[in-house]
Amino acid sequence: MSDLKKLVRTIPDYPKPGIMFRDVTTLFGDAQGFKAAIAQLTEPYRTEPIDAVAGIEARGFILGGAIADRLGCGFIPIRKKGKLPWKAIGQDYELEYGTDTIEIHEDAIKEGERILVVDDLIATGGTAEAAIKLIRRTRGEVVGAAFAIDLPELGGRSKIEALNVRCHVLMAFEGH
Ligand code: AMP
Repeated sequence: MSDLKKLVRTIPDYPKPGIMFRDVTTLFGDAQGFKAAIAQLTEPYRTEPIDAVAGIEARGFILGGAIADRLGCGFIPIRKKGKLPWKAIGQDYELEYGTDTIEIHEDAIKEGERILVVDDLIATGGTAEAAIKLIRRTRGEVVGAAFAIDLPELGGRSKIEALNVRCHVLMAFEGH
């Protein structure tokens, strides 16, 4: 775990003052690191039946696609508003200033399908919460949520676990 943590680049004050941006491109770019991250993210779900991984744009696509391949299941993209080509349903979520919207294809999930949510990082949990709501609105069952990085001070993990979704994270960083 600490080896993987060393592969994450921290960029202070990006994209704005006060934010410590945890850049996973350096982890993804390291062959052994990327392989280990995918293996560790996949591990708890090897024995669980999962129909699809739902990855959150954009870094959740990179991790989620590889995890879906390892699990032998499908992949569903959850995208920023206006990007999906077919009929989509949207869910708003709060940002520090204002709101944003993510979308899923309305026919991406069949009733009762078991879905694993994947993103690179959980901060306040607002994005992952919106993804869980979208999956539940399309009548999927959320069986877990996996993130490479947790920022525990922002409380996102507790927010997601309060929705009865167990989280799996590989590493934690202090601060925002
Ligand atoms: P949140 O909705 O607050 O949990 O934010 C999670 C989303 O914002 C993820 O898709 C992350 O990629 C991105 N994000 C939030 N904070 C950071 C950070 N400090 N470094 C890198 N990405 C971040």
